[in-house]
Amino acid sequence: MRDALRAAPIQAPIAHRVRSYRRRFRGVEEPALCLPVCPVKPAFATTMKQSPATSYYRATATAYEPYAALQGKADARVAIVGGGYAGLHTALGLAERGVRDVVLLEREQIGFGASGRNGGFVFAGYSLGEQSLLDQRGDVQAKALFDLTTSAVERIRRQVARYDIPCDPVDEGVIWANWFRDPAVLRQRQQLLAEHYGVQWEWIAQEQLRERVRSERYFDALYERNALHLHPLNFAIGLAGAAAKQGVRIHENTDVWQLRRDGLRWRLETAQGAVMADQVVLACGGYLAGLRRRIDRAILPIATYVMVTEPLGERLAECLRTRSAVYDSRFAFDYYRPLPDTRLLWGGRISVRNRSSQAVRHLLTKDLQRVFPALKDVKVDYAWSGLMSYARHQMPQIGGGDDGVWWAQAFGGHGLAPTCAAGDLLAAAIANGDDRWKQFAGYGLVSAHRPAGYLAAQASYWWQQGKDWFKTRLEG
Ligand SMILES: Cc1cc2nc3c(=O)[nH]c(=O)nc-3n(C[C@H](O)[C@H](O)[C@H](O)COP(=O)(O)OP(=O)(O)OC[C@H]3O[C@@H](n4cnc5c(N)ncnc54)[C@H](O)[C@@H]3O)c2cc1C
Repeated sequence: MRDALRAAPIQAPIAHRVRSYRRRFRGVEEPALCLPVCPVKPAFATTMKQSPATSYYRATATAYEPYAALQGKADARVAIVGGGYAGLHTALGLAERGVRDVVLLEREQIGFGASGRNGGFVFAGYSLGEQSLLDQRGDVQAKALFDLTTSAVERIRRQVARYDIPCDPVDEGVIWANWFRDPAVLRQRQQLLAEHYGVQWEWIAQEQLRERVRSERYFDALYERNALHLHPLNFAIGLAGAAAKQGVRIHENTDVWQLRRDGLRWRLETAQGAVMADQVVLACGGYLAGLRRRIDRAILPIATYVMVTEPLGERLAECLRTRSAVYDSRFAFDYYRPLPDTRLLWGGRISVRNRSSQAVRHLLTKDLQRVFPALKDVKVDYAWSGLMSYARHQMPQIGGGDDGVWWAQAFGGHGLAPTCAAGDLLAAAIANGDDRWKQFAGYGLVSAHRPAGYLAAQASYWWQQGKDWFKTRLEG
């Protein structure tokens, strides 16, 4: 349907109508409401309920002068579509390399997508597990790919410091708590990381863990020291500010609805203007750009949920006596972290179904109470969802063709460090012809087979969730 729309030559005067049709088709809500979105509704997706709920991140976002929508014609060496981390890191990487002629176009606001809604965990690695990465690539390549994300964690620290980004970074590591009595999974991962990736995760025995995380739910844990957590939307806003200061032209509320060849260059059509560019970077995550079929169809947008409690004051210490972020060892894990104003941010679940803020709150509150029964009557002030972009191979898709179109997508639920690595690789490729991005050539644009892919993903999730449930019951 959308391709049929694109095939017809659409003139500027009706672009608005097309845009609003596409919005309805995608189920995209008005940005001011900051609602969960579902760009391409799976056949069995629930109808999204309108809700005035906003995310905690929006409510505490750094104030900035909005970037004006693109009006009229513009010319650039590089046009980037998508104002999430992938687009922003690429833009900043280009600016830092002295490429001045860069334009970044965002359909809504900076950080509207996953980048402004996530858990804020900054750690190395990918959605694909370390064992699978090793099996697929072998020792040398797997380590090289992993190292890109370790360096990216460090680069994020430097960016926050260098650009003075007010995003509440807490550089206190991440705890991986074992939901199960059986410590084998922890031991195996600790050994694998040390032997093949040169990374040391410290063992935390149950008694020590319970001093830090006051829940009877967990057994032992591993501690990843080289990790941090931060306010993700403010980090995105800070990256945008740093890029803009170095000459990147940013336009919010600028939906790119068509990308086509115009002579040797590319023409990007927006509602009220157009950009002519030599090179184009598509960085649209799970919010599908709808510009290149081959690039969009490689993505499965998957929803995941977050909520934030009221400020807990002294009660926060009833559950957490650490500033580290925490997640657990199940496939469908909970993840949480303390916020500076003593709130608890809690996330979890993945689904092909989008849910209302109320439904997210209901589901996640049950999960929270299972781990911290002491917080039974706690009030939840914010709940929202966001879309991750997954590839079938669970690795990022980073690449480009000879025609000057580049892409960076499919970061899944593990995107903070990998998007930073991707931006650096693409900026180096475009600015200096660096071909390190080819390390990702083995993870191409394989079709995600929508809509059947949704069914497969949901079935696999339920299967893994069932296995975790069974194992929990078995252990008693
Ligand atoms: C709830 C949640 C929790 C998560 N937690 C973590 C975590 O703790 N740690 C971690 O490492 N990762 C986490 N992730 C994953 C991480 O947030 C993502 O991998 C990362 O933000 C992806 O960035 P992106 O730039 O690829 O996509 P996005 O941030 O989704 O950005 C894509 C942007 O493209 C724009 N766009 C799309 N089409 C167009 C168009 N045609 N024209 C103009 N603009 C367009 C969209 O509006 C959007 O702003 C989480 C994700 C979610 C949803």
